[in-house]
Amino acid sequence: MKIITTIEEMQQIALQLKRDERSIGYVPTMGYLHEGHQKLMKEARANNDVVIVSIFVNPLQFGPNEDLDRYPRDEEHDRAVTQQEKVDYVFFPSVEEMYPESHAIQLRVVERSNVLCGKSREGHFDGVVTVLTKLFHITMPDRVYFGLKDAQQVAVVDALVKNYNFPLEIIPIPTVREEDGLAKSSRNVYLSVEERNEAKYIYQALEEGRQLVVNGETSKDKIVEKVIQFINEKTRGKIDYVELLTYPNLKPIDQVSERVILATAVYFEKARLIDNLIFDENGELTFHH
Ligand code: AMP
Repeated sequence: MKIITTIEEMQQIALQLKRDERSIGYVPTMGYLHEGHQKLMKEARANNDVVIVSIFVNPLQFGPNEDLDRYPRDEEHDRAVTQQEKVDYVFFPSVEEMYPESHAIQLRVVERSNVLCGKSREGHFDGVVTVLTKLFHITMPDRVYFGLKDAQQVAVVDALVKNYNFPLEIIPIPTVREEDGLAKSSRNVYLSVEERNEAKYIYQALEEGRQLVVNGETSKDKIVEKVIQFINEKTRGKIDYVELLTYPNLKPIDQVSERVILATAVYFEKARLIDNLIFDENGELTFHH
């Protein structure tokens, strides 16, 4: 495994791999790697000749009052994990390497971004598509692996790739969970013991909502209300949003009659947790296998 810190070297390696007709699987991350990230790496390993993982905490996708400064980092642990997953190259650039100067041209997401996390994290997805545009040009992947825990990100990146003809395939990977259902996240370390106990109810709340659909309920309001009530009853978390939208277009609906996403974000003392379920009009989970 090789750790690369400069754009030039990473790009030269990717170019040579292309010339040698070796397929490249790429997993973009912000580090502090856990089993969710590992699932993406395993998929990449199984389906490509070469695997590149990037670790970069992208300042552009954090708002002024968010957790950029205290986002968890552990280089040694990440090195061990990537080695274990037989990653070939870890691209680990500094902020200065990625953003040496201000950009004369800015990217702005105008659809799929005014709902869910895009609404409460202004500019977040602009930062995401900006860094990914750079990273895609640097790593030149055939396939890029994203987790459905960040389902809105998958939807936005899907649009980026289609709108701007990136010659790559997006592979969405189902959310990896703790035994009690909590979605694995780098931010879970910020939960107190009590909060960690309550955090499992976020997933359970979404499941309650989905069960309504399985049992024939189609009213968005009723489903959302059930989820809100469950989270408020079972946790001390403060709900940022609970939304039910079409997926991947993220359009509002009154009735469930096609594939939808039921998603929530909940603030605890030091962490904002997100989770979602994607299912069809019968309540049947899609993507999850
Ligand atoms: P992050 O380091 O949080 O930016 O995440 C990097 C990638 O890992 C993103 O595509 C995430 O969606 C994905 N990811 C994070 N947590 C999970 C999880 N619990 N299950 C599956 N994928 C995940």
